[in-house]
Amino acid sequence: MPSPEVRPASGRFFSRIGGAVLDLVYPQDCIACRRGVPVDPLGLCPDCRAGLPRIGEWRCPRCGDELGPYAAGRPACPSCSRRSGLMFRSAVAVCRYEGAAREIVHRLKFGGDLRAVRLMKEGIVQRVQSEPWAGEIDLVVPVPLHWTRRIGRRFNQSELLARSIAHSLGCDYRPSLLRRLRRTRAQSFLRGIAREENMRGAFGVPRPALANGRAVLLVDDVMTTCATASECARALLAAEARRVYVAVFAR
Ligand SMILES: [Zn+2]
Ligand SMILES: [Zn+2]
Repeated sequence: MPSPEVRPASGRFFSRIGGAVLDLVYPQDCIACRRGVPVDPLGLCPDCRAGLPRIGEWRCPRCGDELGPYAAGRPACPSCSRRSGLMFRSAVAVCRYEGAAREIVHRLKFGGDLRAVRLMKEGIVQRVQSEPWAGEIDLVVPVPLHWTRRIGRRFNQSELLARSIAHSLGCDYRPSLLRRLRRTRAQSFLRGIAREENMRGAFGVPRPALANGRAVLLVDDVMTTCATASECARALLAAEARRVYVAVFAR
């Protein structure tokens, strides 16, 4: 069975005009487990849909991390209480970064499977719309890559997500509001404070007037520590953005 990436051009054309009919000819594989089994309209098989590690009702209102029920009613999770200060107002995440959620992220990032954009976008938009601040958002901005990294890739997955989310929310999409001013070391090799120091001053807003007074939704596929998002928020607030919120698919 051909994978969606290597479908003949006529297949791609017909999939746009009649997905249901075409699926009889080209059964799609599941974005997460890659089995050639029936998938839902967003590309997930029933097993992966049921197994998505969704972050439930108990979550940190600052960083969006999942909390045990013991932490209900606390203003922040233990790491947010310890942190010197997150620059964004609030972050939301759809899933924990594991299992099917991790596979979906990898399928986009390393496999170039663009079906994952819609799947992740739907989850993020749903989560954002359930927040009391959803109506405040003026601009949607992706976490930028440094240009030297950007040219090595076919796309920046946070740009694809942010554009799609802006469209669904009816907000302005501003891919170049925020710039990465310098290359940083990969955060995965660093811990805690070192991550914050690595990111310090890494972002800037070349045209502050475009951020002035606006509420910004910052979008990324994954947030592990909050260091990158917080530094982005610092740059946006320095440009007089009114507030910064963060939405990611997984954390
Ligand atoms: Zn599956
Ligand atoms: Zn937290």
